[in-house]
Amino acid sequence: MEPKKGIRKNDDLKKDDLIVVAGAGGFIAGSLVRYFHDQGFTRIRAVDKKPLPQWYRRTPGVESLCLDLSIEKNCRRAVEGAAEVYQLAADMGGMGFIERHRVDCLRSILINVHMIESAYRAGVRRYFFSSSACAYNVDLQKDPNARALKESDAYPANPERGYGWEKLLSEIFCQEYYAERGLKTFIARFHNVYGPHGTWDGGREKAPAAICRKVIDAKHSGKNYIEIWGDGTQARSYMYIADCLEGIDRITHCDELTATPINLGSSELITVNELVDLAEEFAGVKLERRYQLDAPKGVAGRNSDNTFIKQVLGWEPHTPFREGLRKTYDWIEQQYLARKRGERVVE
Ligand code: NAD
Repeated sequence: MEPKKGIRKNDDLKKDDLIVVAGAGGFIAGSLVRYFHDQGFTRIRAVDKKPLPQWYRRTPGVESLCLDLSIEKNCRRAVEGAAEVYQLAADMGGMGFIERHRVDCLRSILINVHMIESAYRAGVRRYFFSSSACAYNVDLQKDPNARALKESDAYPANPERGYGWEKLLSEIFCQEYYAERGLKTFIARFHNVYGPHGTWDGGREKAPAAICRKVIDAKHSGKNYIEIWGDGTQARSYMYIADCLEGIDRITHCDELTATPINLGSSELITVNELVDLAEEFAGVKLERRYQLDAPKGVAGRNSDNTFIKQVLGWEPHTPFREGLRKTYDWIEQQYLARKRGERVVE
């Protein structure tokens, strides 16, 4: 029988091979470190530019380095001895951040330029890059009911200004490092990722966390309204963190996907209004909805076409949104209440 594609085999990666995860002070990479740790990998190096006390998650027994990866010599240090590198470091956030900080987003190119060159020089066996659905042509996303995006829809190129262009160019780096130099690269286009341990406050949070926080705040402060960016009809698909981690692992260990961008997202489309309905249901409140039509809202509709991932991996992200949001809501409420009591908000 043919082995299942995208399932890691022992000769791919040994338990004591060094895995480097960049951006590990943040949401997805911090959870990826925990994922590999829980699978019994004994040598993991986590890297982020944030000082260690500000990391969302720290995993015991993991080497954690505070390095600015936009500087080349730091990238060389970060990947030294690595068998596999997972590059998730980026200056990013939800629509509020992406629309207002295009230069910061573009400057993440420095991280990607130096990380891939350093990985190549270090003889890394597999290199994963986290791209984004923001790399897709925005003209195809003008309607809340727009058809789901398939991989070829990135061209002709007209991605999200700033952030999307940076992702698209970094994808090209991954493709050419394989074509010209033989570095095995793997590229996933994430569609909105959410879950416990994500940003939920401070301006970089995305819609699911922001809406949960606002509803939780209304519930605990007795406020009877909620402010919503846009008119509530914007539609997205949201991928639960556990699916994202499994997808990264599967994609990186599927040779057929070398240097081939692939969607990693849920195909369950949710409007902002539906998201608010769910959060209200969890909180047991009903709020007056105040729509802020001039706030950042991004494209009107975006969904992930999962034909390709199902065909190659026989798998796709599958956690129902209601189930993932419930866990996220509960975690944010816990954080919210801890902060209110003046406690340090940690896991
Ligand atoms: P995050 O902001 O929580 O984590 C990113 C981390 O990168 C942060 O901890 C940040 O400090 C670090 N970083 C930034 N600049 C750095 C530098 N110069 N050197 C070292 N570290 C640096 O974001 P996330 O949601 O965990 O996203 C991870 C990756 O996935 C990013 O590349 C992002 O673009 C991509 N992505 C995320 C989503 C999503 O919905 N969260 C969607 C599409 C793509």
